[in-house]
Amino acid sequence: MAGGAGASGGMFADAVSRLEAANRITGLEDEVIERLSVPLATLQVSIPVRRDDGRLSILSGFRVRHDTTRGPAKGGIRFHPEVCLDEVQALAFWMTFKCAALGLPFGGGKGGVIVDAKSLSPMELERLSRGYMEQIADFIGPETDVMAPDMYTNARVMGWMMDEYSQITRRQTPAVITGKPLELGGSHGRDASTGRGAFYVIRELQRREEWEPQQTTVAVQGFGNAGQSLALLLHEAGYRVVAVSDSKGAIHREAGLDIPSVVRVKNEDRKLEAIYCDGSVCEAVEADRISNEDLLALEVDVLVPAALGNVITCDNVDRVRARLIVEVANGPLTTEADAALADRDVRVVPDIVANAGGATVSYFEWSQNKSGWYWSEEEVFQRLEAIMTRELRAIEELAERERATLREAAYAHALRRIGRAIEAKGTHSYFRQG
Ligand code: NAD
Repeated sequence: MAGGAGASGGMFADAVSRLEAANRITGLEDEVIERLSVPLATLQVSIPVRRDDGRLSILSGFRVRHDTTRGPAKGGIRFHPEVCLDEVQALAFWMTFKCAALGLPFGGGKGGVIVDAKSLSPMELERLSRGYMEQIADFIGPETDVMAPDMYTNARVMGWMMDEYSQITRRQTPAVITGKPLELGGSHGRDASTGRGAFYVIRELQRREEWEPQQTTVAVQGFGNAGQSLALLLHEAGYRVVAVSDSKGAIHREAGLDIPSVVRVKNEDRKLEAIYCDGSVCEAVEADRISNEDLLALEVDVLVPAALGNVITCDNVDRVRARLIVEVANGPLTTEADAALADRDVRVVPDIVANAGGATVSYFEWSQNKSGWYWSEEEVFQRLEAIMTRELRAIEELAERERATLREAAYAHALRRIGRAIEAKGTHSYFRQG
């Protein structure tokens, strides 16, 4: 087991740098900040995977627990060629704060394997999923560290991993991993939960601002799991979704896109490109083709980055004309762009709140697995809405009271919960007072 890295540079250090601004509001002891500035535990493993042609590939993987003060660590596992320890530690840190911001009884964790999942056959993917679990089984568990899907891992991968863990421990243990297929103990509503959570956030803010949905224009960058489910819910609720994009480009229609048709064409042809080509499917959707950069610069009420990190930077922030940005992707704004938008009074709902619907329904799944009592889709949606709107309101009130941005307030709201839990276990000043 490798030691946890300190915050000496890179993504993790950048993530930790948010704590200072948050603690200006919370005023917690330095000891609390020190504790959260290093991950609790880091495991690095190598995974031998037999390829279909008989060769052996040795892949590298990680699992990081950032903090477990408020409950077991919770966080996804990603398969991606650019995974590195620094990134996994940063993602685990964000999970600690996401769970605390939403009041979920978890700390933060994350895992990753350095691999191009698209280059693997289905059987190689299964061998990798089971092989990764074999290496980390002693490090995780329903009471210590609970896994979930992330980039290039899905319900099927979660099912294999849960099965492998149950075979290793010789106990059926669905609560070790969330985002499983329904048939293996998954929760209703988990698939579209991130988009649904972001939808509740937008609807709550829109009601407060007294905007009419029909007059509210939205642009969504990224048309995958999260972007599609959000765009569909907004469309059903009467919002004007005027632009959406994928990695190949964007489509725009000022009167609003017919999102169900766009979803159908995208899912039939795997790319939005099919919509702006010449041919029969293209006629299903009337729209102009624009670039992803142009989408970010549209004059809309709500801009939703739902694809990659670092898409709004100091190079393009001046072109952004949206009134509200809802961060469905993790880390779509660089620190400099975030500061520039705050100076212009553009409201930004930070990722740890805007995309927390997935983590919240993961909590519901873990809770259902532990109790053995399963909920209907309606119950899942009601409880998700109640949590998202309650915590958003608390964060907005704190932001108003402290004249802080929503991001600073969200971190402070989370830090207060984590800090109080750390203090309740005992800190220097507590012991000094005897
Ligand atoms: P996904 O893989 O299903 O979809 C990603 C989408 O982004 C695809 O449509 C892809 O074509 C598009 N894309 C890729 N590169 C792009 C580019 N350069 N410009 C525009 N679009 C591009 O992923 P997802 O699960 O929808 O996740 C999207 C983002 O939301 C990620 O940042 C992820 O970390 C974050 N997120 C997702 C969840 C979840 O439950 N799905 C939860 C929390 C956070």
